[in-house]
Amino acid sequence: METTRYNLEDNPTIFGKILRKEIPANIVYEDDKALAFWDIAPKAPVHIIIIPKQHLACLRCMETSDANLMAHLLHVANIVAEKLDVKESGYRLITNAGQGAGQEVPHLHFHLLASKKGEHLPGF
Ligand code: AMP
Repeated sequence: METTRYNLEDNPTIFGKILRKEIPANIVYEDDKALAFWDIAPKAPVHIIIIPKQHLACLRCMETSDANLMAHLLHVANIVAEKLDVKESGYRLITNAGQGAGQEVPHLHFHLLASKKGEHLPGF
């Protein structure tokens, strides 16, 4: 299991490059602890990636001291949903924790997925 925690300048993942603004992203929200941007290959009409600026490889690496950061990321999900007008209709939040779950980018992220107004996301 990947337990390394990189500093922002050393984060080798694609999301590290986005955080350093080395590659572009379609950003919908940013604050001092989090960034949210459109997924490059959306799996739903609304597909946003929410990441902490601080590197954690995935949810399995979470420690007690990360609890406030996790709560903040969930709060950001609501802010983003409100901004994109899907808070009332509803959204799905997913994190893939590890390769066996389909995680490709080893920087903790939540996928915020939502359908168009009046439609439903397919169930699992
Ligand atoms: P996961 O499989 O959970 O690690 O999800 C990684 C997600 O990051 C996938 O949905 C990718 O489409 C998305 N992704 C990869 N590169 C980029 C990028 N440069 N900009 C936006 N999203 C990306």
